[in-house]
Amino acid sequence: DYPDRSLVDQLELTVERHAERVALDFLGRTTTYAELADQVERVAEGLRRLGVGPGDPVALLMPNCPQHVVAFHAVVRLGAVVVEHNPLYTSEELRAPFADHGARVAVVWDKVVPVVDALREGSALEHVVAVDLTAALPLGKRLALRLPVAKARRARAELTAPAPGAVPWADLVTAPPVAGDHPRPTADDVALVLYTSGTTGIPKGAELRHRNLVANCVQGRAWVSGLREGEETFLVALPLFHAYGVTVSVLLGVMLGARLVLLPKPDVDLVLDAVGRRVPTFVPAVPPLYRKIAEEAQRRGVSLQGIRYGLSGAMPLPAELVERWEATTGGLLVEGYGLTETSPVIVGNPMSTRRRPGAIGVPFPDTEVRVADRDDPDRDVALGEPGELLVRGPQVFAGYRGRPEETDAAFHDAWFRTGDVVTMSEDGFLTVVDRVKELIITGGFNVYPSEVEAALRTHADVADAAVVGVPDGSGSEQVVAAVVAAPGRTPDPAALDAHARAALTAYKVPRRYVVLDELPTNPMGKVLRREVLALVRERQEAGPAV
Ligand code: ATP
Repeated sequence: DYPDRSLVDQLELTVERHAERVALDFLGRTTTYAELADQVERVAEGLRRLGVGPGDPVALLMPNCPQHVVAFHAVVRLGAVVVEHNPLYTSEELRAPFADHGARVAVVWDKVVPVVDALREGSALEHVVAVDLTAALPLGKRLALRLPVAKARRARAELTAPAPGAVPWADLVTAPPVAGDHPRPTADDVALVLYTSGTTGIPKGAELRHRNLVANCVQGRAWVSGLREGEETFLVALPLFHAYGVTVSVLLGVMLGARLVLLPKPDVDLVLDAVGRRVPTFVPAVPPLYRKIAEEAQRRGVSLQGIRYGLSGAMPLPAELVERWEATTGGLLVEGYGLTETSPVIVGNPMSTRRRPGAIGVPFPDTEVRVADRDDPDRDVALGEPGELLVRGPQVFAGYRGRPEETDAAFHDAWFRTGDVVTMSEDGFLTVVDRVKELIITGGFNVYPSEVEAALRTHADVADAAVVGVPDGSGSEQVVAAVVAAPGRTPDPAALDAHARAALTAYKVPRRYVVLDELPTNPMGKVLRREVLALVRERQEAGPAV
């Protein structure tokens, strides 16, 4: 039932209908859909001259910016494959994925050209195209492009002047467009590769086809049925190197002929600056960002009235934040759920007052789910019992690039195994219990870290907590909690222990506590339990707990 349409067809349809509407708004500088289409054709031709053809991977390493959206569409225009990477990664972090995908061409933010140049040896990389983000921006806005993210500090050491071998982006844009001459991709071709599993294991490249991405846009549009073609303003604060930022922010927006307000980083100052110029109608984001926006807007007396829809994902959305956001904006904030491998959304709360805080919602249109016994996935568990969420639908990917074994393991028959433990209520609402891979097995008992974390967070001395299983050498794991102190408080292990014992069965109670200044998170704000485990083990070697 899904349109047999590629992303190239999708952009074309929008350009036909909305040529003169603003497509991109970058710190106030605008590009219409007609201009976007023209730049896409030129850059496609420029990339073709660098040797890019159908099926070839092209790596993109940029913050959200107009050139990023242009490059994305230019690559898929050629039937080539976009491979997205976090532009703040170090050469070390990029080495394995570059060896894996084998891109010959990379289009990168000029500040990180040296980081990418260092990858030439040991990979197929030949051409690095350098993008100057400040081109044509007013001076005052250039400051906004400083990216004070923790990783940048590490990367800075590697930053020097751009290498002489880099191709300036301007060279690509000035190529004459030769529309119609290139072969076009079909809906079945791979459009995008996203590396996933940084939080849980070796990064693998999930291959998403045009069909998968278009299907998720169609589903998302049906879900948020109040979105009106040609009239919406989307806030694109989530990074384009993540499935959520690509599909729910950019591709859905393009399908609707929306104005995409691109923010180079998910920063509250930039958000409020953008809101001051024009109130976005649709703000897809993650809970920490909604919280910061609501708090800062209130503190500065900025009105958020007019933001009609928020769609939160990637991690649990607290009910109290829903109340706060909805009171501040007069709109709706609902929680959805998805994964990189599913383009990404598969489950969502209804975009109405029927939404249920605490639950991830019900399956998206034409998406089937099962809650299966982990040891016997042919069997569904009873309603209300925890089981692994399996899913089938037009947005589910076909596999990991060049990894048939991992791909096989990700499916049970035709069902994709999400690796998340959920429960289903009698009326079909799903709730995430935890991730299968983060389950702690201690003395034969299963401990879900999020349950223990929730109990610890209710203690007044604790601002945040992450619970991990430390292998104890006997095949079992020990439950250990990393906690962040609430402002001005000093958590005391004995007090935390008493608190945990009052809330939890004995086997779930942490054996040890470690106090951290902050929990390590990924760019979406999700806690990296693997890094927590490494920190906890370091502390163990360094001396006694706390
Ligand atoms: P990485 O790519 O670094 O491995 P990841 O495994 O978290 O990270 P993603 O595909 O970005 O990869 O995230 C998907 C996971 O995010 C889901 O499997 C689920 O565990 C979690 N998730 C997504 N939405 C929600 C939600 N609403 N509530 C709780 N967890 C969620």
